[in-house]
Amino acid sequence: MTENQEIPPLKKPTKHPQEVEGYIKKGAPEELARIVVAKDISSKRKDRKVQELTEQSMMDVLTGLPNRRYLFTELAKEFSLAKRNGGYELSVLFLDGDHFKAINDELGHKAGDSTLKQFADVFKRSLRASDTIGRVGGEEFVALLPRTNSEHAQQAAEKLLEVVRAHPSFPKSGTTISIGVSTFDKDLDRDPEDLLGRADDAVYHAKEMGRNRAEVWTTQTPQKAERQFSKVDVSPKS
Ligand code: GH3
Ligand code: MG
Ligand code: MG
Repeated sequence: MTENQEIPPLKKPTKHPQEVEGYIKKGAPEELARIVVAKDISSKRKDRKVQELTEQSMMDVLTGLPNRRYLFTELAKEFSLAKRNGGYELSVLFLDGDHFKAINDELGHKAGDSTLKQFADVFKRSLRASDTIGRVGGEEFVALLPRTNSEHAQQAAEKLLEVVRAHPSFPKSGTTISIGVSTFDKDLDRDPEDLLGRADDAVYHAKEMGRNRAEVWTTQTPQKAERQFSKVDVSPKS
């Protein structure tokens, strides 16, 4: 395009005249500058959309916590770090709402949903920023506690039980949780699902022991007849 040639007005002028100006200053003709800027904006929008969709696919819509898929991906990462020679300790908490079916039946599904959101809020606020808490099923949450040994994981579990017990609305509705605790052991855990499965067994044991309590996995902990996590599933449906 020559200098004297008239530049036809664009049907959709870009909303960023200053950016167009910048390109023109760099020597680009106005029309080309507008096209370059428009493309740049549209690719930024696409990038944002992709980022949004990626975040959504990793987030539990109800609570805003990481979903099962994200949590399991993180577990696999943490597990491989813990497994390395000289790797750090890794503990897992499996949290399960007690008699949650009754909460829905007696107070309604909406109240159940709101309790799950409150759980998420309470758990997130009570754990460390370096921990990861996700919702892995209906009324089931898993927390990953890197650099945390069994004793400290048990303390974290007791703290969570306490905040639920002291919550301004949970005691009125009789809402409690049970927690199972497991800590990576190279002789017991070949795969991430072994570590998670032991936390699942421990929470099941906590239920048997009366609920509203935490149980740390030991060699005496009975194994659930059917373990929920036969493999770490990060398929898109989860
Ligand atoms: P337990 O103490 O043995 O864990 O009993 P429970 O009733 O919590 O366990 P169960 O597995 O029998 O039932 C879980 C219930 O959680 C079933 C369903 O009513 C409720 N639930 C699961 N997902 C949701 C959800 O997204 N919203 C609501 N409101 N309730 C849910
Ligand atoms: Mg459950
Ligand atoms: Mg339950």
